Amino acid sequence: MSEHYAFTPPATVSVPVVGRAQRFPVHRIYCVGRNYEEHAKEMGFTGREPPFFFLKPADTVVVAEPGQTASTPYPSLTSNLHHEIELVVAIGTGGKNIQAADAAKHIYGYAVGLDMTRRDLQGEMKKQGRPWCIGKAYDHSAPIGPITLAAEAGDVNNAAIWLQVNGSDRQRSNANKLIWNVAETIEHLSAAWELQPGDLIYTGTPEGVNAVVRGDTLVGGVDGLTPISMSIG
Ligand code: MN
Repeated sequence: MSEHYAFTPPATVSVPVVGRAQRFPVHRIYCVGRNYEEHAKEMGFTGREPPFFFLKPADTVVVAEPGQTASTPYPSLTSNLHHEIELVVAIGTGGKNIQAADAAKHIYGYAVGLDMTRRDLQGEMKKQGRPWCIGKAYDHSAPIGPITLAAEAGDVNNAAIWLQVNGSDRQRSNANKLIWNVAETIEHLSAAWELQPGDLIYTGTPEGVNAVVRGDTLVGGVDGLTPISMSIG
């Protein structure tokens, strides 16, 4: 029992860091929408638009511990649960109005994440001009693998990004096809919110998003980072 709080506060959500005992405590989860041209096209859009963002609560994170397959329940209310494999940026030093040229100084590391999406609910909200929360920010919607320190991650801006479901290719592209690259995304994002240590940025997904069902196993990666493995329970 806590004397100070009305009830015991929830534990801090954290992500393991490759080669380190200390974990990365999560503050906020920002996500970039339609940030690969071929994915924008498959969602019915074309052309370069200014980046736009949505958020997921920190406690939607599902951690895939190193060498393990995480398990997430199939969520309620949907019959069209989609995978979106994404390069995730972990912010180590906060700031606002960060220029793209200075963005690297703010990056702690990188991970592979899944922006899981109740596509049918998101689509209905889009049609009605309502917020995406119910489609995007549901419980367990932000699986993530271990974070690799930026200095050890290689050239993530030119790394292959891929996802297999039950061993078959679903998504395969390269992070160099991001419409707004990592540095530009940090510039735009930090103009709208003051970034804090512990923030995660899901940078967007390439084409090939599709449905998964109970019993499926998803394995995804970004070259140079620890892959993520997750099953749908
Ligand atoms: Mn996404």
